[in-house]
Amino acid sequence: MSNIINNPYYQLFLKQKENQFKIGKSTYRQRVKKLNALQRAIEVTYREQIKEALYKDLGKPVVETELSEVYQIIGDIKYVKKHLHQWMGKQRVNTPMSMLGSSSYYIYEPKGVCLIISPWNFPFNLTFGPLVSAIAAGNTAIIKPSEMTPNCSVLMAKIVIDVFSEDEVALVVGEIEVSTALLELPFNHIFFTGSPNVGKIVMAAAAKNLASVTLELGGKSPTVIDSTAHIDKAAKKIMWGKYMNAGQICVSPDYVLIDEVKKLEFIESCKKWIKGFYTEQPKDSKSYARIVTHKHFERLKSHIENAENFNAKIEVGGQLDSDSKYIAPTIISNLKDEATLLQEEIFGPILPIVTYKTLDEAINYINAKERPLALYIYSKSKANTKKVIQNTRAGGTCINNNIIHYANHNLPFGGTNNSGIGKSHGFFGFEAFSNKRAVVKQHTFGVTELLFPPYTNLKEKLVR
Ligand code: NAD
Repeated sequence: MSNIINNPYYQLFLKQKENQFKIGKSTYRQRVKKLNALQRAIEVTYREQIKEALYKDLGKPVVETELSEVYQIIGDIKYVKKHLHQWMGKQRVNTPMSMLGSSSYYIYEPKGVCLIISPWNFPFNLTFGPLVSAIAAGNTAIIKPSEMTPNCSVLMAKIVIDVFSEDEVALVVGEIEVSTALLELPFNHIFFTGSPNVGKIVMAAAAKNLASVTLELGGKSPTVIDSTAHIDKAAKKIMWGKYMNAGQICVSPDYVLIDEVKKLEFIESCKKWIKGFYTEQPKDSKSYARIVTHKHFERLKSHIENAENFNAKIEVGGQLDSDSKYIAPTIISNLKDEATLLQEEIFGPILPIVTYKTLDEAINYINAKERPLALYIYSKSKANTKKVIQNTRAGGTCINNNIIHYANHNLPFGGTNNSGIGKSHGFFGFEAFSNKRAVVKQHTFGVTELLFPPYTNLKEKLVR
């Protein structure tokens, strides 16, 4: 206990803890009012500053900011407001005959004081997205965004101060020490978005207080292209999904597994679409983002060097510029299995191409790795699509497309095992931040009372 008292965030935590029941009792209208205030801040007041901050931190093109940050959060808020009244109500269920005289329902009650730790690749969306669910479910929250995108973090702190009082929502900036200190506090729920390795640290810390967790993690998301697929359409979508945000997306297609007979056609199509999207000089294109930090630039550079050491073939790209943290859209083939590009999550604009002879071979390749956050299939064959889905496990899947499953608020979003625990978005986000509390109300004499002690011979006969 003395450790906790000395924790730099204990007083803040305590303020929220003392306030949690007041916030938890908030009505539908009161919660909508808060969501409206957050919506106004993002949609109107700070919209231009959001674009500037993302450009400074990530060189993020304005269209990508509008689509994947502003539009996404606003869409989330609107969806939640539309359904929240129903989610907050009593969820009635049937009551068995053996409990005659009573009725049953459950309610979604707030978990309490929550911690939200977010990454840098979509700083606003991945911070305010979980916050929308936390507020909707009636929680208080302390937020720790990533230190990698400092301009975004400072702006988010400003927005939080503008919209909320700190006994309801507070944002603290800082590096790993800040997360470590926060993770010592006995939060009721921890919502973490980041890498699987840090996810394990978060889960271990949560275990000390038996805090529940939602872990939105990452990993290697495969893209399977079979021999029946429309190759040019597949290439177009994959070039869009892979190089958006310079490949720094958790559901980015990490690598392609393609039927060997289609490899050359696919690579030619990819070259065409890269040129079409980003011109011959992607470095000068306003549509192409930069790598977040020099550390990540060096990490990606070493992937390319490692591939070259294994005599892999750079089919497209490979150009790097350290000063501007630019890495060209790159496609690499002929990789050996031990190449780091095939071992680690890439999280950057490099696409390895792996070929297969049979679909079973592709399935075995996927299953030999950790379970992915997303798995994409390009095929015209229903049987092949079904076979891939039934014989693999993944957080989510798109058929003949990629990434877009993230944008449907009606779908659960999240991974499985190494790629995550729990789900978010829309109702599933509200559920993640809620405890389902079961309630049985006794109205009249209950038949179970007939079986109270003393246990006579008659009662024994009745239960047999
Ligand atoms: P990260 O795990 O390095 O960092 C995420 C957050 O954890 C940051 O706020 C960071 O400060 C904090 N952190 C880092 N090390 C920590 C430690 N030792 N103890 C406590 N906290 C620590 O991840 P990242 O580099 O910011 O993001 C990239 C990763 O996140 C990728 O693996 C990607 O796939 C994943 N991701 C997942 C989703 C999703 O929704 N599933 C979304 C975006 C990113």
